[in-house]
Amino acid sequence: MRPGQIIVLATPVFLLSIAIEFAIGRLRARRGTGQDTYRLADTVNSMGLGLLSQISAVLTGLLRIGIYTAVHSAVALFPDTDFWTTWYGWLLALVFYDFCYYWLHRMGHESAVLWAAHVVHHQSQHYNLATALRQTSSGALLGWIFYLPMAAAGVPPLVFGVVALVDLLYQFWVHTEQVGRLGWFDRWFCSPSNHRVHHAVNDRYLDRNYGGILIVWDRLFGTFREEDERCVYGTRSPLASWDPLWANAEVYWALAHDSWHARRWSDKLRVWLKPPGWRPADVAARFPKPAFDLAQVRRYEPAVGRGAQWFAGVQFLLLIAAAAFFLWFADDMPLPRAAVWLAALTAALWAIGGVLQARLSIAEALLIEAAALATAGAALALPWLHHVFKPLALSIAVFVAARRAWQRPGGATRFDILLVAGLVASLAGDVLLMGPASLFVPGLVCFLLAHLAYIGVFRIGVGLFPRPVALAATLAIGVAMYAFLWQGGLPAALRIPVALYVAVIACMAAQALGRAFVRRDAASGWVAAGACCFMLSDALLATDRFVTPLPLAPLWVLATYYVAQALIVRHARPGD
Ligand SMILES: [Zn+2]
Ligand SMILES: [Zn+2]
Repeated sequence: MRPGQIIVLATPVFLLSIAIEFAIGRLRARRGTGQDTYRLADTVNSMGLGLLSQISAVLTGLLRIGIYTAVHSAVALFPDTDFWTTWYGWLLALVFYDFCYYWLHRMGHESAVLWAAHVVHHQSQHYNLATALRQTSSGALLGWIFYLPMAAAGVPPLVFGVVALVDLLYQFWVHTEQVGRLGWFDRWFCSPSNHRVHHAVNDRYLDRNYGGILIVWDRLFGTFREEDERCVYGTRSPLASWDPLWANAEVYWALAHDSWHARRWSDKLRVWLKPPGWRPADVAARFPKPAFDLAQVRRYEPAVGRGAQWFAGVQFLLLIAAAAFFLWFADDMPLPRAAVWLAALTAALWAIGGVLQARLSIAEALLIEAAALATAGAALALPWLHHVFKPLALSIAVFVAARRAWQRPGGATRFDILLVAGLVASLAGDVLLMGPASLFVPGLVCFLLAHLAYIGVFRIGVGLFPRPVALAATLAIGVAMYAFLWQGGLPAALRIPVALYVAVIACMAAQALGRAFVRRDAASGWVAAGACCFMLSDALLATDRFVTPLPLAPLWVLATYYVAQALIVRHARPGD
């Protein structure tokens, strides 16, 4: 049994405990003796981050275990497995782990680059059992360093893995507001009361109570604090987003920003090592941030409709099932296969977050999910998956564009008709390209028509090729690509259709780029990025088909293709 599988088996226990805590909270809130600490979006966000952490560990975990095992086999001082597997050996290993965990966790709060990984666990502004599940996906990058003493001491990798899991699972139950103070227990062990203090941003509570199982470490090293004021949860720079990828990236991004803009080289480095919140004086002066004020803390709760909430909730339950299935088999999968599933599950998780913060409509989320499944189906050679979801993805895109046209006051315009025509032609092209090689040219013709329709869409309000330099650039790239295909073995029968196609897609990209230069707004920029992705997708497809097979070609071809179509259908707007 592997750690990922144990987490799968523990999942029903997590869900049941969360349901019970939720019911108790509701009951106490109704009686006026306590409060309901759950909000759907926050819970989905927290559990989704736990899910992402587990599925990404299929790849990142190899680093942690690999290094541990390598160090263990090189320097183990007391490698006697018989000793480490007696009851006192296990207990010693657990206490040893808990001690190392204390220092990793403490450094996770006192050093910015480690905080960048650990912050995920603290972003929730609620405190409940779901908060326990929110874990970082980047912890394996540096976290392993703190456990090297155990490898050097000789704790076998298996024993290490088990006590690590025990330490993690122990901490689940302490994340609740429904259990009060527990007397002597609060002073020996990590408990709901003293861990609430750890998650609070109140001045008196900041950077306290790091212990995983034993809170004794905090009392030994001077970081213990009792709970004696109402806790306000979260971080001092609130996440204010339900995007699971941004949750993992936000602090890395902020540190990279400050490091980039710092004038002194020593500051560029210090940004990463100093405590979180430290900023070079020149950067703080140029990009000021308001000081933290406890009284100003508001919970992030963007308003979304009932339908969107139901959709996100049901989708999330389906995603948990899919992720459990993946985790169960992941270790037996070749790495590229696991990476493809990981990417597809991540895309779906991201889309659910987008719906909960009203950034994506339900149809747009379904488009992303269908595109992810179509891509996975092609990359993993699962024809049934590919054949169901590839036509579905563009059908949803057509629906998104058609519905927008339908809802437009005054009725559909030339813009809407051309956009829908472009998407319908793409759909036809998708279907034809799924068929035998003899349908390649008809498929190409459909995409050619799609690009002509898109040129029509992008010229509204700005005219044809408003920036000739963009046309020159995309045509030059097109000519170079065509020459590359020619010398690589483009069949003679395809030379003319491919030449025509390359010319038209280059014109489409030039039109989108020219439009972005004229309109200078974010939406036009995204459309131009989409058009460039389209060129990239076709370049990859043609290289793989005519020159040399590329590794995981369907993955790259379809991923860039769907990014292109999604950006175009979402951001193309008629001019003012
Ligand atoms: Zn912490
Ligand atoms: Zn915690």
